[in-house]
Amino acid sequence: MKMRSFTAGISLMLLFFIFIPAVHADSGKTYEVGANNLNVRTAPSHSAQVIGQLNDGDRVVVFQKAFGWVQTYYGGQEAWVASQFLYPANGQSNANSGSATVSNSTPEKITVTATEVRIRTGPGTNHDIIGYTSNGDTYNLVKSTNNWNKVVLGDGSSGWIAGWLTDHSNGNSPAPKNDTNNSNSTSNNDTEPKSSNPANGSLEGYNIVLDPGHGGKDPGAIGIGGVFEKNVIMNTVDNVARELRAAGATVILTRDNDYFLSLEERVDLSNAYNTHAFISLHYNAYPILGINGFSTHFYAGGKNRQLATDIQSGLRQNTSLYSRGIMQSDYHVLRENSDLAVLVELGFITNPNDLATARTNAYQNNAADGIVQGLLNYFNE
Ligand SMILES: [Zn+2]
Repeated sequence: MKMRSFTAGISLMLLFFIFIPAVHADSGKTYEVGANNLNVRTAPSHSAQVIGQLNDGDRVVVFQKAFGWVQTYYGGQEAWVASQFLYPANGQSNANSGSATVSNSTPEKITVTATEVRIRTGPGTNHDIIGYTSNGDTYNLVKSTNNWNKVVLGDGSSGWIAGWLTDHSNGNSPAPKNDTNNSNSTSNNDTEPKSSNPANGSLEGYNIVLDPGHGGKDPGAIGIGGVFEKNVIMNTVDNVARELRAAGATVILTRDNDYFLSLEERVDLSNAYNTHAFISLHYNAYPILGINGFSTHFYAGGKNRQLATDIQSGLRQNTSLYSRGIMQSDYHVLRENSDLAVLVELGFITNPNDLATARTNAYQNNAADGIVQGLLNYFNE
């Protein structure tokens, strides 16, 4: 993303969805949210900090748009949301203030008793993850259902936390099961030492879908000097595809040129093949120059997390950029994918060193090697 000067001048403390001034004509247009749990972030980037969520029917006033993101205000702070789930608001009839109304009279508290505990949209592990919490965090309890606690989150919205990972005044006794693991008792695999010579393996017989992010009318992030993510990534993908084929894999590209492809089409493509792994490739952006490094993202845990781990360590061993680690992220191409799927952010095109490095053949070859090594490790362990 091009370094935008954050115009601190705009100090309209718009508590959106509570006081949507429908006729602030000069402030911008009002949009209505058409999805639940739409993340609100500090910057127009999937890696920016999440500071809240919007739900179906919530309204936002948009002040500027930038490549798939719109800027609004959240609790008086500049905030960004992905524009694809926003629709121009027509009538002002049902300005649903949903999440802002969760204030209670005598809130009962719960305290989280484990690390990396998931916050979900509903009472059960089948519900989507909307955040994390940890040991010692306390929340106001709205209600408890089947040993799940509905709590008020920092932004006033609500979420559900497993009752056995919390303590509260009513003294629910903790159960042994732990939502921080990937429920299917495969956790041994996470701690088992890796085989030491997997790189001798082959990817013969494996179908790998490579998904170069963005394209066509969607340039992705915009980096220093106005460079487009969609273009930087295409060069990298060519290298990765070549290396994968050299290792024996069958490679399917979701796009092989500069054209637009929806997220749904990318997932459909992956699901249409007998795909052994789907890898979406991106470069990242952030409005702070110093932010740098590569990261690998997964949505569902288990094997997806393991593949992310393997690819991240393959990249770490083969490239010189800073390793930001693996992250659980709610990306459409991962969430909706029925195949093994990860998304790799290969560096920040808003960071001078990352961008200069990302443009070199050496980095693109090394990154390709790292991804191949990660896949070999994953499939041959
Ligand atoms: Zn991207």
